Amino acid sequence: MGDMELIVDFYKDYERLGPGSHAETGKALKLGGILPSKDLQIADIGCGCGAQTLDLAKLTHGKVVAVDLFPEFLDKVKTHAKEMGVEDHINTLQCSMDSLPFEEESLDVIWSEGAIYNMGFQKGLQAWNRFLKPGGIIGVSEITWLKDDRPEELEKYWNGAYSEMFTEDVKREQMKQSGFELLGTFTLSEESWKDNYYKPILKHLPDFISRHKADEGAKALVDEQRQEIELFNKYKDYYGYVFYIGRKI
Ligand code: SAH
Repeated sequence: MGDMELIVDFYKDYERLGPGSHAETGKALKLGGILPSKDLQIADIGCGCGAQTLDLAKLTHGKVVAVDLFPEFLDKVKTHAKEMGVEDHINTLQCSMDSLPFEEESLDVIWSEGAIYNMGFQKGLQAWNRFLKPGGIIGVSEITWLKDDRPEELEKYWNGAYSEMFTEDVKREQMKQSGFELLGTFTLSEESWKDNYYKPILKHLPDFISRHKADEGAKALVDEQRQEIELFNKYKDYYGYVFYIGRKI
């Protein structure tokens, strides 16, 4: 199997492909001052299997376009939307986040939980800004250093994994420079990592391993995942996912 196929096979059965929770999506929507309306046009970029897409539809009553690179994830979004009775509020779009087809100033809300890193935080903010109406709201969660001094082992791992691993003050400044007024930030809870993201992964790892026994790529993916979880357990006070909520100026 190729790397991408393995990633899809690894993640397709999880509700979440990154840290998050229903309560925190709701909290971020509140910080954005988003009032329910069936007229809201929302894009959920890098939606994965759609945990937050469903929340966006349920809580805002608006129209949500769920965007992801992988059709397997979008199929899950469609299935879940039907199960929850919100299929009339959700459309899916298979597309890369760096070539979105939205019209300029056509969206009220842009949402992206644990996904903008695929493009880079600032690059994503700058590219997506033009799709928002003036005064439109952006909500993105992004991995962030929570302390200025970090253990070398941790710094090395994350700087190798993501070139924009910065502290919150740097990210806040990047939001401003990308044309957004910051409305609020908060750090996702430990449960959002442990219970909602890592626990299901650990539960299904043995099954994934037995499905891909002789596959070196699968072994590397599992090792990488285990290392990430080990580092989280050891150093979780030093970094976290921060939700950044802003308004287009
Ligand atoms: N928001 C979801 C998924 C986060 S994981 C959640 O919190 O559960 C990141 C998601 O971004 C994955 O679903 C992945 O398929 C998607 N992705 C990765 N690169 C992408 C790209 N270039 N364009 C669109 N989506 C992308």
